[in-house]
Amino acid sequence: MRDRAQLVYDFADGDRTQTDLLGGKGANLAEMTRLGLPVPPGFTITTEACKFYLDRGEEPQSLRVQVTMALRRLEDGLGRRLGDVQDPLLVSVRSGAKVSMPGMMETVLNVGLNDYSVKGLAEAAKDERFAWDSYRRLIQMFGRTVLDIPSERFEDRLDEVKAREGVTTDVELTPVALQGLVEDFKGIVADATGREFPQDPREQLDLAMRAVFDSWNTDRARIYRRRERIPHDLGTAVNICAMVFGNMGEDSGTGVCFTRDPATGKQGVYGDYLVNAQGEDVVAGIRNTLSLEDFARLDPASHSELTRIMRRLETHYRDLCDIEFTVERGKLWMLQTRVGKRTAGAAFRIATHLVDEQVITRDEALTRVTGHQLAQLMFPQFDPDAPRTLLTKAMAASPGAAVGEVVFDSATAVARAAEGRRVLLVRRETNPDDLEGMIHATGVLTSRGGKTSHAAVVARGMGRTCVCGAEEIDVDAENKVLRVNGTTVAEGELLSIDGSTGEVFAGELPVVPSPVVTYLESGLDAALQGVDEEAADLVRSVDRLLRHADRTRRLAVRANADSAEDATRARSLGAQGIGLCRTEHMFLGDRRVLIERLVLADDAASRDAALAELLPLQRADFVELLEAMDGLPTTIRLLDPPLHEFLPDHTELAVKVAVAKATGEGASEEDERLLAAVERLHESNPMLGRRGVRLGLLVPGLYGMQVRAITEAAAERALAGGKPRVEIMVPLVGSVMELHLIRDEIDGIIGEIQEAAGVRLDIPIGTMIELPRAALTAKRIAESAEFFSFGTNDLTQTTWGFSRDDVEAAIFAAYLEKGVFTVSPFESLDRDGVGALIRTAVEKGRETRPGIKLGVCGEHGGDPDSVHFFHYAGVDYVSCSPFRVPVARLEAGRAAL
Ligand code: ADP
Ligand code: MG
Ligand code: MG
Repeated sequence: MRDRAQLVYDFADGDRTQTDLLGGKGANLAEMTRLGLPVPPGFTITTEACKFYLDRGEEPQSLRVQVTMALRRLEDGLGRRLGDVQDPLLVSVRSGAKVSMPGMMETVLNVGLNDYSVKGLAEAAKDERFAWDSYRRLIQMFGRTVLDIPSERFEDRLDEVKAREGVTTDVELTPVALQGLVEDFKGIVADATGREFPQDPREQLDLAMRAVFDSWNTDRARIYRRRERIPHDLGTAVNICAMVFGNMGEDSGTGVCFTRDPATGKQGVYGDYLVNAQGEDVVAGIRNTLSLEDFARLDPASHSELTRIMRRLETHYRDLCDIEFTVERGKLWMLQTRVGKRTAGAAFRIATHLVDEQVITRDEALTRVTGHQLAQLMFPQFDPDAPRTLLTKAMAASPGAAVGEVVFDSATAVARAAEGRRVLLVRRETNPDDLEGMIHATGVLTSRGGKTSHAAVVARGMGRTCVCGAEEIDVDAENKVLRVNGTTVAEGELLSIDGSTGEVFAGELPVVPSPVVTYLESGLDAALQGVDEEAADLVRSVDRLLRHADRTRRLAVRANADSAEDATRARSLGAQGIGLCRTEHMFLGDRRVLIERLVLADDAASRDAALAELLPLQRADFVELLEAMDGLPTTIRLLDPPLHEFLPDHTELAVKVAVAKATGEGASEEDERLLAAVERLHESNPMLGRRGVRLGLLVPGLYGMQVRAITEAAAERALAGGKPRVEIMVPLVGSVMELHLIRDEIDGIIGEIQEAAGVRLDIPIGTMIELPRAALTAKRIAESAEFFSFGTNDLTQTTWGFSRDDVEAAIFAAYLEKGVFTVSPFESLDRDGVGALIRTAVEKGRETRPGIKLGVCGEHGGDPDSVHFFHYAGVDYVSCSPFRVPVARLEAGRAAL
């Protein structure tokens, strides 16, 4: 760092654009100062100074000098000196990062008070009670935040004194009692730290500044940043601000207000005010607060000035502002403002209200809402009015409200779900074997693992409600019961879990569907039936913004769907096609035996027989699918996973055969052959083994059968007057040669069927790009591929060399903690690495084939951040799970602005 770098800015010198350097609070204090609003003067220490301190463990040399200069300017401007014995200047030391992290970091008020200046303050204010109250607050806050003394030690003492004095609130304490309390607090400090409470005002200031710097790296701050995907290296600014006092009597007070209701988005100001109080008292809920209407009656002049300022700020920021203010003996002071946080519903409503008030344009309105918020609005919720019994609270891993009978294993989950019952899968932790159970459960509850555990990741991926890491729950799978805080729940009994809050409730809580989902699936009229005005306004807002996104976006949005049912749902949610139909899901259940037969076939005749049985089943699947998607592009992927995934488990089968032999019965010939096949097909790394196009080249007839089924289905639909628009996709291609070879076979079959059926079918053949080699040689691959679809899950696995199922639980928690990445690359696309391969493939593919269609069909297709990347990278469409389609539509619109 250069020695002359400016590390300190007076409020009068900055503005709102400087949030990187001054943090949000500092930049907005500067902005309000620039606007001429009544802000107490002060200065901001930059995030650069903080970063330097966090790197080196000490402040930059020049910081002390610059702080001294700024402090002198402040003192000279006010004509008072920090901590002076007569009429002292006091300051607050306040944290403030670029992105607001509410309640995460520290603030110390009344810095500058000591045994002498407290008397000067009392004299200047002509108020003993106020001065001693301020001093006890300083020691309390300083003790807690700078010296790390547990806050209960102060609070307990305060309670004791109140009890002794026979009063219920702190304002009733006499000056003498407060003075005694100051002595007690100083004793607590000396006792806890072995040092006296620092009397030197500048030392108080320096220590408080450091504490703010240090607060950047507390556990809760790190956890918060991880959850909000805020980088760990931004650092915080520190704001030093001249104190104004809300605790100077009945004509003073402190408050917070909003220019609109941040919970619902309702128009009209909203706020709380507390008489004779300071700082955190309002939010701490110590005493009852007054509404703004009461405030207007109490102090009409301050209230009307506040009202003017609120309007001024909303006009200036053109958005909901939240504001912190203080009144000192009838004079209003502004202590903070920012564009306020809001609930998902409020975001949509406020954005459309501002359009209607002609404060922002429709494009701007679109920037004010996010796909995450839309996703939140889509989850059903527990009826807020229903009575409930909370059993425990753990991590909110995947949102939603789920009720079900408790089951402790995947098989039982599948079996009971098949009987049409709602089940809640409860496991200590889940692993890939639990997948089927998770698919069939309404929700998943685990007692171990965090937000990147298998359960959490998979549940989020499939949109299943999940609460994880509920350590208070003892999961006894063997005896099929769970115990939690004295309650025992046996298999089959009901539990309710809230994946948005992490709460677990006894029994069944009634669930109310989201009107937003009704709107998305069935349209505006259906959604407006019987809802209250607020919900109706919300639904209309979502409708308007989503339609605007649809008009704005360049990216098309398709869905990943494997069945006609999913396809229909996706279509109603606005999908413009299917980007990925995974055919492997069609080989589960009863059809598994047919695959077994195919694998076991030792001559062409038995192989062909097995394929011949599969053909009509596949054809029927595709007919249904193409009917559901009539007129829209439908991309069907040929079989991708290794064949052994369709065979019985090796261990189980080996045991069965061994037992049969040992008992002298002898194993069946079928089982022995099956076992031999399982062993022959065993792979130690199946993800990189005999799968994808390799299957097509190594298992004669398999891809041919699928292509035949697809083409015959398309022909049937065309002859029935439909408009089938099917596209065939070949997975895991690494070399153009693989595609050439497969195309030879495919083109032949399509030609033959067209001829036989007497219809012309236009069936583009394309490939997934999911290996780095495919991306790098995309120029060649495009010679043979009519479209590319980026399989970003596999491309992430193969680019990073991460096996998804293995690393998520084992490595990612540590990597997120250490800051290797701020978000899992499976959740949000890694732009630098995987993204670079995608850009390369886009460019090279178009060189060979300018009109080549480019899509994305990995999970990332529904991730808001990733959608923006795909827009910039120039792909034509994204494809994601059906319930993510509206999210992708909204984000694609936002990306295009
Ligand atoms: P947070 O980031 O948690 O909101 P702040 O730095 O805004 O923390 O401080 C919390 C509260 O302390 C403010 O809302 C305000 O009431 C009070 N406060 C901060 N600075 C001053 C000041 N200079 N004078 C009076 N009160 C202050
Ligand atoms: Mg604040
Ligand atoms: Mg793949």
